[in-house]
Amino acid sequence: MNATTALERQQHTFRSGLTRPYEYRREQLMKLKQVMKNYEDEMLDTLETELRKPKTESYMTEVGVTYEEINFTLKHLHRWMKPKKVRTPVSHFGSSSRIYPEPYGVALIIAPWNYPIQLALAPLIGAIAAGNCAIVKPSELTPRTSALLKKMLSEVFDDDYVAVIEGGVDVSTELLALRFDKIFFTGSVPVGKIVMEAAAKHLTPVTLELGGKSPTIVGRDANLDLAAKRIVWGKFSNAGQTCIAPDYLLVHQSVKSELLTKMEHYIQELYGDNPREAGRYASIVTERHAKRLAGFIDNAKHIVRGGKYDTADRYIEPTLMDEVTRDDALMQEEIFGPILPIIAYEDLSEAISFIHSFEKPLALYLFSGNQREIDTVLEQVSFGGGCINDTILHIATPYLPFGGVGQSGAGAYHGKASFDLFSHQKSVLHQTVKYDLPARYPNSKLGAKMIRSLMK
Ligand code: NAD
Repeated sequence: MNATTALERQQHTFRSGLTRPYEYRREQLMKLKQVMKNYEDEMLDTLETELRKPKTESYMTEVGVTYEEINFTLKHLHRWMKPKKVRTPVSHFGSSSRIYPEPYGVALIIAPWNYPIQLALAPLIGAIAAGNCAIVKPSELTPRTSALLKKMLSEVFDDDYVAVIEGGVDVSTELLALRFDKIFFTGSVPVGKIVMEAAAKHLTPVTLELGGKSPTIVGRDANLDLAAKRIVWGKFSNAGQTCIAPDYLLVHQSVKSELLTKMEHYIQELYGDNPREAGRYASIVTERHAKRLAGFIDNAKHIVRGGKYDTADRYIEPTLMDEVTRDDALMQEEIFGPILPIIAYEDLSEAISFIHSFEKPLALYLFSGNQREIDTVLEQVSFGGGCINDTILHIATPYLPFGGVGQSGAGAYHGKASFDLFSHQKSVLHQTVKYDLPARYPNSKLGAKMIRSLMK
């Protein structure tokens, strides 16, 4: 089915009202969970084949987290769907006010390759919960996972309701030329700009989940052992191909050498002598991507640990790189791989200025035992979201809306935020017909005085 036909059919379904009732939405979410259960092993196998993702990691970051999202939505959906009564000012005496969340219509969801299951299905959960139809365009760089997603979703959903359209830039471009009612895009900043431009042509509301350079700061009062372990885990999971992975490390000069020693220890402990063979470490998505990362290693001034690569096998060793400056090539773009540049600072203001020399990041991590330091960073640095004394985990709670700010994205989802994101909030004033206050009318004698006293 081509993109135009798919959209027209879904518009027809949406207009029929089929997707609106609570029971229908609930049933579709349960079907989605069931099909995931049926294909759980196949999903884990495919991710292992395609990205060498360890199964436990895949379960945690792709499958389990999506079950959690469905469970949470099922638990709260009925309440979220209810019109919300809000207060009405005294100037509107006699009337009441409600906000009705209503589905937009047909949503387009464009997903990247790095968490190809989760990043296609998590937005879909929001779209279904809010009562929309949806077309999902997974990434062409993980074709087996994309094909599996298509197989799974077409087994439980009619194409006229939820369809998967596979393909690369050409298909994406074709879809973006159409008039959807909502676009949800996850991917890189440059493509995010293309998506926003396409959305602007139809004035389609758009959510952009993008990337960028997410800093990690380690202050001198930090618990260095835990900082080292949690940074190593956050950076090297999925071989650094995580939108919110620590991109670079800013560490207080006085604790740098101790932190590095501990990080080396944890790389060894978590990934062993040969991470590729240990079955605990993902591959780089393509040889082309591996070559880009290998280029950073070739130009390094000082590799503290790691540095081995085999681009034909899409392998880059977990690598710590010291003596990095703001002008180095790997500081000019999002690294998106298992290389961590390390920059020492003397004063926190220096670290903050360094972060300010980049666009607003998607995530920030601060390891500190000093409340003033924590307050300073939270007050002075704008970022999408993050953790104090940890990495990554803020993404995995349905109570924290997840998204970027500035060039790292627009809009946030997960939990209720997903439902809100795929809903238009329709505000309605219900007026009484029992009486009609004359003050607003131009022939009212008391009007002008009364309005001034009510609206001062
Ligand atoms: P990408 O932008 O290259 O591709 C994402 C999607 O857009 C794919 O489906 C692709 O087919 C499509 N696409 C690519 N070029 C296009 C074009 N010119 N016109 C229209 N569509 C196009 O991103 P990627 O390489 O798949 O993913 C990596 C990027 O995504 C990183 O920057 C990462 O930080 C970001 N990311 C963000 C999040 C988040 O939640 N904020 C999550 C994962 C990844």
